[in-house]
Amino acid sequence: MKCSYNYHTHSHYCDGKGTLEDYIKEAIKAGLTDLGFSGHAPLPFDNSFSIKDDQYLDYCHEVNMLKEKYSGIINIHLGLEIDYIPGVHDDFRPLVEKGHLDYFIGSVHLINRDHGNDLWMIDGSKIERYDEGFRRLFGGDIKAGVKAFYEQTNEMILSQKPPIIGHFNKVEMNNKNRYFLPTDKWYQDLVNETLDIIQKSGCICEINTRGIYKMRYWDYYPSKSILKLMKERRIPVMAASDAHHPSEVALLLDEVHEYLNEIGYPKELIGFN
Ligand SMILES: [Zn+2]
Ligand SMILES: [Zn+2]
Repeated sequence: MKCSYNYHTHSHYCDGKGTLEDYIKEAIKAGLTDLGFSGHAPLPFDNSFSIKDDQYLDYCHEVNMLKEKYSGIINIHLGLEIDYIPGVHDDFRPLVEKGHLDYFIGSVHLINRDHGNDLWMIDGSKIERYDEGFRRLFGGDIKAGVKAFYEQTNEMILSQKPPIIGHFNKVEMNNKNRYFLPTDKWYQDLVNETLDIIQKSGCICEINTRGIYKMRYWDYYPSKSILKLMKERRIPVMAASDAHHPSEVALLLDEVHEYLNEIGYPKELIGFN
């Protein structure tokens, strides 16, 4: 089952490698018809991964220029992956309007408590940072930390209505079944509550393959067991590789479509329409 699109890609503008055009060339080689750029949105504090404020319009301009250049060959879409952090970065409109974006992905990578500035980074390859973060912010109470992750996600969906929700269960990645199991009752309750909210929102949930090809996790985000719950609720989904290197632009996307076909995911609920 061929997948012809990917709307989750980074580049040298944020924490990825390679130019925008490098990704386009690889996407054409892989037979994609639609490629979206979703650089990490500028944030109101210093960090190592997002587009810098003063480069944001350059990024938008270059994507738009490439959209023209490759018109008739591949459809290019201008987007961002925007972090939702309550009290710190919780209004996506200014960025969406300033860049005249075609779409955006809403993601939660950084968790805070009571709108504070102290943040727990759940993403990234360093497990020690995950462990240190929830100990610092949540006194070692993993349930409280994970609950805060899903509550932030819920708040983001309700207040920002992102067209696409990024890596639904990323909080599982660095846990690696050490502090909790995805089958724990309390965890399942949190997942189900968020799925109910997504179902009513009309947002699309991406199926992100990055954990598998980077060998940081053994399943997609969301995992196959969550995908079955999404199917029951008829939640729209789309494959995404979250590429940070041009060579990753189409990794495992066809496999996602094959899996969706295998479990009988309704065809009209797959892709970005
Ligand atoms: Zn992300
Ligand atoms: Zn990403």
